[in-house]
Amino acid sequence: MNNIQDVLVIEDASITNTYNLKVKAKYLIKVKSIKGLQEVLKYLEEKKIDYFILGAGSNVILDEYFNGAIIKLELDNIKIEDQMVIAEAGCMMGKLSFKTVAKSLKGLEWAANIPGTVGGSIVGNAGAYNSEIFDNLVSIKILNENLEIEELSKDKIEHSYRYTSLKSRKIIVLEATFLLEKGNKEELENIMKDRCERRRDTQPLDMPSAGSVFRNPEGDYAGRLIEEAGLKGYAIGGAKVSEKHANFIVNTGGASSNDIKNLIRLIQRVVKEKFKIDLILEQELVEWKN
Ligand SMILES: Cc1cc2nc3c(=O)[nH]c(=O)nc-3n(C[C@H](O)[C@H](O)[C@H](O)COP(=O)(O)OP(=O)(O)OC[C@H]3O[C@@H](n4cnc5c(N)ncnc54)[C@H](O)[C@@H]3O)c2cc1C
Repeated sequence: MNNIQDVLVIEDASITNTYNLKVKAKYLIKVKSIKGLQEVLKYLEEKKIDYFILGAGSNVILDEYFNGAIIKLELDNIKIEDQMVIAEAGCMMGKLSFKTVAKSLKGLEWAANIPGTVGGSIVGNAGAYNSEIFDNLVSIKILNENLEIEELSKDKIEHSYRYTSLKSRKIIVLEATFLLEKGNKEELENIMKDRCERRRDTQPLDMPSAGSVFRNPEGDYAGRLIEEAGLKGYAIGGAKVSEKHANFIVNTGGASSNDIKNLIRLIQRVVKEKFKIDLILEQELVEWKN
């Protein structure tokens, strides 16, 4: 595989994510071009090697071992022409947010503190402060199930709160095109600064996590329910319900994916018993078949 252009293969690789989980994979493949990606996927399919696309790993609970290939897209260019913005899938949302605000463009300022990539954020319809990535989206380019490049306009993708129909397809997001509005740079920078401070005050940003664990049930907050259930600070192994924000699980050191999963199940059970509400996961449990 290392002969394929624009592809770097690391065998028996150690991987981690924003939870600071210790993960081993048979292969870690870093890809720098779409052609390289197409060739590597063809090779993996021929050899029947399973693969998983990892963005920044900021929304996933990963199993400890994957007998397959973790693919990371090292494609992170941003092109801005007037109000049109094209961002490659490996680009971090923070970078995209700051670059667009620097051009006095409004529509992605809410994403300054999302520690994920454009690809991961499109697939999960990331959002904050009543905005979401689909608001200003025009279209995306994907590598489809036949390894062909395909353009999908926004209306061809079912999406709702932290959900898109892309989740159930074996496709790879390559880039996203946005149409932004003209805005006032200083106002946008102030909004970003305010929200950054608000997050620092209310979220455990100094501890490894993957953001909100559960979706907010309609008309309520998962954090409020977990706190009222008396679970703030409750820990299983190295996984603990944050004292600062009850909808965050933090890794206090050495948490395994099982610690996190067991804590999730316990929270769901206790909240169901107390409030008759089913908490739905916002984070993704990645359980590989080895
Ligand atoms: C401190 C903190 C705060 C957060 N705040 C928010 C918030 O306010 N709002 C919010 O929505 N989220 C938030 N998150 C969660 C997370 O940052 C977002 O969900 C983000 O969009 C995930 O992107 P990622 O690149 O990390 O995806 P990953 O976690 O790497 O992957 C998520 C899923 O997307 C798939 N995927 C990734 N890239 C691609 C691609 N190119 N093509 C196809 N599939 C792909 C993966 O296979 C996986 O299934 C927060 C997380 C943290 C740690």
